[in-house]
Amino acid sequence: MTTSVRTRFAPSPTGFLHVGGARTALYSWAFARQAKGVFILRVEDTDLERSTQDSVDAILEGMKWLGLEWDEGPFFQTQRMARYKEVIDQFLAEGKAYLCYASKEELDELRKQQMARAEKPRYDGRWRDSKTTPPAGVRPVVRFKNPLSGGVTFDDLIKGPITVSNAELDDLIIARSDGSPTYNFCVVVDDWDMGITHVIRGDDHVNNTPRQVNMLAALGAPLPAYAHVPMILGADGERLSKRHGAVSVTQYRGEGYLPEALLNYLARLGWSHGNEEVFSMKQFTEWFDLEHASRSPAQFDPEKLLWLNQHYIKLADDDRLAGLVEPELRKRGLDTARGPSLARVVALLKDRANTIPNLAEAAALFYGDGVPEPALLRQHLTGQVRPAMLLLKSKLEALEAWDKVAISAVIKVVLGEAGLKMPQLAMPLRVLVAGRTQTPSIDAVLELLGRETVLGRLARHLSPE
Ligand code: GLU
Repeated sequence: MTTSVRTRFAPSPTGFLHVGGARTALYSWAFARQAKGVFILRVEDTDLERSTQDSVDAILEGMKWLGLEWDEGPFFQTQRMARYKEVIDQFLAEGKAYLCYASKEELDELRKQQMARAEKPRYDGRWRDSKTTPPAGVRPVVRFKNPLSGGVTFDDLIKGPITVSNAELDDLIIARSDGSPTYNFCVVVDDWDMGITHVIRGDDHVNNTPRQVNMLAALGAPLPAYAHVPMILGADGERLSKRHGAVSVTQYRGEGYLPEALLNYLARLGWSHGNEEVFSMKQFTEWFDLEHASRSPAQFDPEKLLWLNQHYIKLADDDRLAGLVEPELRKRGLDTARGPSLARVVALLKDRANTIPNLAEAAALFYGDGVPEPALLRQHLTGQVRPAMLLLKSKLEALEAWDKVAISAVIKVVLGEAGLKMPQLAMPLRVLVAGRTQTPSIDAVLELLGRETVLGRLARHLSPE
C-alpha cells in the first residue's frame, strides 16, 4: 500500500509571513497538490513570549491571500499540551527519557571545563543512568536518551544524503523544569501524529533533523522524507531581511502586487523548469519536483518581481483591477462615481502599470477636475493653437457618436485644416481636458471622459476673452 502524501507548513507566529516562509509553504502546498495529497497548517506557538495573535492573523491572512489553501488545521501547538505530556510520560515509562537534576551552576561549570579543553560544549549524560538520590527541592528537566553510538543518516531530497554521528548529539531536553515541552520534541510528536510524509522546510532547521529522526525512531514512528530548502539572500549576498526592503507578504499586498505575481516569483526562486519564467499555479503544481530545487541559496530580485507583477496586471480581469484601484483613488480623495467606469479606465491603462498604486496614479486623471496649472496652460494654449482648438470644439460638439474612432477622425480633419502636426494639437488638448501633458492616447481619453466633461473643459478655457 502506498501512503498518500501529507505535507505541512509549520510557521512560528513571531512575526509576519516572510517571503521565505511563503516560499516554503508554496513548495509544501504544491508537493501535496501534485500528489493529490493533504497539506496541513500547523502554528508552532509554544514560545509564549514571542508568539502573538497579530502574527497568527497575519500568517493566516497571507496564506489566504496567496491562495495556499490548507486541508487540515490550523493546528496550534499550545492546544496540544496534554498530548505532549502523554508522550513524555510514555518516554519516561519506557526508559527512553530520564529526569535530569543538574543545576544551572553545575552545567555552567561543565561547559567551562569543556571549553577549556577545546571540546564542543555538550551535556555529559550525568543523570542518564544515575542511581543517585535526586537532590531535594530541585525540579528536574526531562532529557531524551539519544543513542550513544552509530549515527543518523537521512537522504535529504534537496541536499542529498546527510550523516551525523550520535557522538555529536547530546541528550536533548524535551521538557523544561516547569513541565513545558521543548520545540524539537513538539515538532516530532506533531509530525508523527499528523502523519507527515514529507517535511519541506527552510534549511535553518537542517541541524534539528538528526535529533528529530532519533526521537521518531524511539517512538517507532515512520520517518518522513526531509527536504531542506536553501535560504533567500538579498542583492548583497546577506540573508534577506527588512534592510533589503519589503520582506512580508502583507507588505507586498499593500504595495500593490498581485498574489499570482508573488507566487510565480517565489515558485521560480530556487526551483526551475527549463527556461520557464512565467507560469500559473496550475502549471507549477504539475511541474514541481524537488529534484529541480536549487541546492544553493537564491537571490531575491525585486526588479524581476516587478516585471512579473506588470505581466499579471496586464492579464488581470478589469473588474478585479477596478476593485483594487478604487480604494487607492479614494485614498487620494477621488470619487470614482463621478467619472467614467473604472473598469474601462483600467482596461485602457493596465498595459503600462507595474503596481496597483501605479495604475491608480494613471487612473486619477479621469476623476480629478483636470484643471491645469496656469503656467502650463499659458505655455500650451498659444495664439497659434487657439483657433484650432475652437475648431475642434465645434466639430466635437457636432459629433453624433462619441467614440474614439469618430473622435480620432475629427482630430485628423482639424489637423489638416489648421496645418498642425499631431503633437502640436494633442499636447494642448491634453492640458485643456486633463490638466497634464502625459496621458494615454488622446482619442481614448476623450472617449472615456465623455462628451459633457470634454466639452465643458474645453469651454472653460476657450471662452471668448
Ligand atoms: N516553526 C519553524 C519555523 O517557523 C518551522 C519548523 C519546521 O518546519 O519543522 O521556522
